[in-house]
Amino acid sequence: MIATPGAMREASRRWRRDGRTIGLVPTMGALHAGHMRLVEAARAENDVVVVSVFVNPLQFGPNEDLDRYPRDWDGDLRMLTAAEVDAVYRPPLDAMYPAGAATRVRVAGVAEGLEGDARPGHFEGVATVVTKLFAAVQPDRAYFGQKDAQQVAVVSRLAADLDLGVEIRVVPTVREADGLALSSRNVYLDAEERAAAATISAALRDAAEAYSAGEHDTGRLRARIAARLALEPLVHPDYVELVDPATFRKPAPGARRAHSGLLAVVAARVGKTRLIDNHDLTKPFPG
Ligand code: AMP
Repeated sequence: MIATPGAMREASRRWRRDGRTIGLVPTMGALHAGHMRLVEAARAENDVVVVSVFVNPLQFGPNEDLDRYPRDWDGDLRMLTAAEVDAVYRPPLDAMYPAGAATRVRVAGVAEGLEGDARPGHFEGVATVVTKLFAAVQPDRAYFGQKDAQQVAVVSRLAADLDLGVEIRVVPTVREADGLALSSRNVYLDAEERAAAATISAALRDAAEAYSAGEHDTGRLRARIAARLALEPLVHPDYVELVDPATFRKPAPGARRAHSGLLAVVAARVGKTRLIDNHDLTKPFPG
């Protein structure tokens, strides 16, 4: 258990001196099987696995769910102990943002549009905390979930642009049996909303099937996803878009998508809960 950036850097120095590689899994806690898949990937590729648990207020907007964001430290500790991680970095708020802290990291381009528009300041909060976590942990590799596809694009850009020397590894989305992407926020859903939420992944699956059957028109694929979501009255889409997975721009017509991918991204409100999901339509939907 490590609680301050200084102590974290000290531990990291010792591991490095012993020639051990370090994998970092950044999380906001309330851990589930999706997070643990990231831990497994880190375990497989590094000598030392560090999991950070920090609910980062900078990445929540003023009207978002920071205060009620799920927290389950006992459960988290049980899962991390069972997974035999080497260290849990869990800094208190004032260790991360002491009085006077004034620096923010802003990524242009990929951080704009979609989640960037829907949640102003969100990716600035993410980029700032990730930069700080990388500085304290000094990992060789860091593990992020495909579930948060735009975050992956932002963090990849950040690591490359600032020469952070951290390899960004992306882990496929872990889903429930009915396709719903695992998320700490799923605990907010009541039974009816939980059933309705499966429509989001069903719509992505349907679009992937249409793509493999020869439908490559992005406008029609997008309309198909929107139409499927419209059948479920409890699901209120924020956006449905098709983008290039690396740039998050709309793909050029006629682009060779089998190589670059064609990412369908969805954000939708189900009751009071905002859910996001995505799938590269050039690949079969899992399960
Ligand atoms: P969070 O605690 O929500 O900030 O998530 C921490 C990390 O876990 C992020 O890199 C997420 O993309 C990843 N993650 C969350 N849910 C899933 C999932 N269902 N499958 C794979 N990775 C996930």
